Amino acid sequence: MHTVILGNGILAATIAFRLTKRLAAKDRITIIGKRSRPGSATLAAAAMLNSFAEIEVGSLNSELDRYRFELSRAAGRMWPQFEKEIGGPPSGGGLELGTYVVNNTAADDLDDENFDAIVAALREFGEPFEPVAPRDIPNYMPEQRHRATRALVIPGEGWMNPRLVLERLDAILARHPQVSLVDDSARSLVRQGDRISAVKTEGGQPIAGDSFVLATGATASDVLRESDLGIEVQRVFYGVGVSVEIGSPDFPHKKCIRTPNRGLACGIYSVPYFTGSGAAQDHVLVGASNFISPTPYNYGRLTSIESLMRGAIEQINANFYRADLVRINVGWRPTTLDTYPLLGRSSIANLIIASGTKRDGFHLAPLISEKIVAMLYDEPVDEGFARFAPERKPIRSLTRQEAIDKAVRHQMSASYQHGFTPSKSRMPAQIAQMHRDDLERLHDKVGAHDWGIPPEMLDMYRYGHAMA
Ligand SMILES: Cc1cc2nc3c(=O)[nH]c(=O)nc-3n(C[C@H](O)[C@H](O)[C@H](O)COP(=O)(O)OP(=O)(O)OC[C@H]3O[C@@H](n4cnc5c(N)ncnc54)[C@H](O)[C@@H]3O)c2cc1C
Repeated sequence: MHTVILGNGILAATIAFRLTKRLAAKDRITIIGKRSRPGSATLAAAAMLNSFAEIEVGSLNSELDRYRFELSRAAGRMWPQFEKEIGGPPSGGGLELGTYVVNNTAADDLDDENFDAIVAALREFGEPFEPVAPRDIPNYMPEQRHRATRALVIPGEGWMNPRLVLERLDAILARHPQVSLVDDSARSLVRQGDRISAVKTEGGQPIAGDSFVLATGATASDVLRESDLGIEVQRVFYGVGVSVEIGSPDFPHKKCIRTPNRGLACGIYSVPYFTGSGAAQDHVLVGASNFISPTPYNYGRLTSIESLMRGAIEQINANFYRADLVRINVGWRPTTLDTYPLLGRSSIANLIIASGTKRDGFHLAPLISEKIVAMLYDEPVDEGFARFAPERKPIRSLTRQEAIDKAVRHQMSASYQHGFTPSKSRMPAQIAQMHRDDLERLHDKVGAHDWGIPPEMLDMYRYGHAMA
C-alpha cells in the first residue's frame, strides 16, 4: 500500500509516524508539504495539553461536547507513552506538567463564570486540583490592578514545545527507508471513477498512490475546491492566531499560567518554552489571539501582538516589560463552519480527511493519529467518531438563544479585554443590547431561526463566507 499524506503538521506527522510501525516490506508513505511549513498552526502553538483548563460555561452541556471532552482527556493520557514512542525528550524539553489557572479582573465576569465551570468539571470528573493563593504561583507577579483574586493548579495538565516534537518526528520520518518527503504543496486531488488516483503538486508533479490523507490544516478546503471531487465538505476557515516568544532571563517561568477562555479566544497564557539542551532555560511562550478569516493571512496584526505583550506584562509578570522579544508566530487554526473537527473517511473510499482541530489539535494528535491509522487499515473505530465524518451536515449544537447569549457575553468580554472603559451610566447594558439586536438581525438575515451561529463564525455569516 502506498499512502500519500497531504500536509506536514502535527496531524500528518503523527499519522505517518504511526503508519511506519505497521508497514509491510512493499508499503510506502509519501508526505507532501513545504519544509518551511507556511501557516503552520503546530509551530505557533504553546502547546498546552489542556482539557479542564479549556472548559467554559456550557462546554459540557451536550452529549457531543461531552464525547469531545472525553477524547481530549484520553489524548492527554496518551501523551506520556506517545512521547516515549517518538524517542522521548533527548535531554529535557519534553512533556512538563502543572497548569495554574488564574481568575483576574482584566476582562469581565465571564472569567469568573468560566473559572467556576472549570472547578465544577474538575470536581465532577474527580481530576486532582488544588486551590492556590495567587501569590504562591511561581513567577506570577502581575500588575496590582490585574492581580488574580482566585487561582487553582491542575497538576495533571501540561505542555510541550511543538517545534521540538515536530523536529523529532521529522528526523524519524526522514531516515525511514519507506518514507518519502516531498518539499512542495499539494494543489489538488485527481479523481478517477470512484477513487482518488493521484495528487497534483504546485510544482506540477503528479504523485500516485493507493490511499490519501488530506491533513493540510486550514487549507483543506482550498485543496478540495481545486480538486472538484463532487463531494460536499463544510468549509474550513483560517483561525489566524498569534503567539509571542519572549526571553526572560531575570524572571524565568516554571509552570503554565493562564486565564480561562474569554472574548472568543483562549485568554492570556504563558508557558516555559524549552529551546534545546544547552540553551538558556528562560524563554516563555505567550499566547494567543484568534480571528477567523476566509483566506490565508500571513502576518500578525499589531493589535494582536500589542494585546499579548500588554497582557503578559499586566496579567502575568510586570517584570516582562524588560523581556526580549524573540519571535512572533502566526499560525492558522483549522476552524470549521460548525467548529467541530473533520476526521474520517470520505465517500470516496480511499480519501480520509483529518482537519478542523481548531484549538487543540496538538493535544489530540496521539489519539487522532491512532484512529486515522485504524481507518486506513479498515479496523473498527469507536462509533462516536463517526459524528466527525467530513461530509456531515454542519452540527448545530446551539439554539438561537444560546448562541446570541454566548456571543453577547464574549463580545463584551473582548471589549473589556481591549481596554473598554464605560462611562458611569447604563452604557454597558446599552452596548450589550446593541450587540443583541445586531445578532438577532444577523440570525434573521441568514435564516437562523431555529439554530444558532457559533459565535466564532459570526463574521463569516455576516460577510457571506459561510454559504460559499
Ligand atoms: C497561536 C496558536 C496557539 C495554539 N495553541 C495550542 C495549544 O496550546 N494546544 C493545542 O493542542 N493546540 C493549539 N493550537 C492549535 C493547534 O496548533 C492545531 O489544532 C494543530 O496544530 C493543527 O494541526 P494540523 O496538522 O491539522 O495543521 P498545521 O499544523 O497547520 O499543519 C498543516 C501543514 O500543512 C502544510 N500545508 C498547508 N497547505 C498545504 C498543501 N496544499 N499541501 C501540502 N502541505 C500544506 C502547512 O504548511 C502546515 O505545515 C494553537 C494554534 C495556534 C495558531
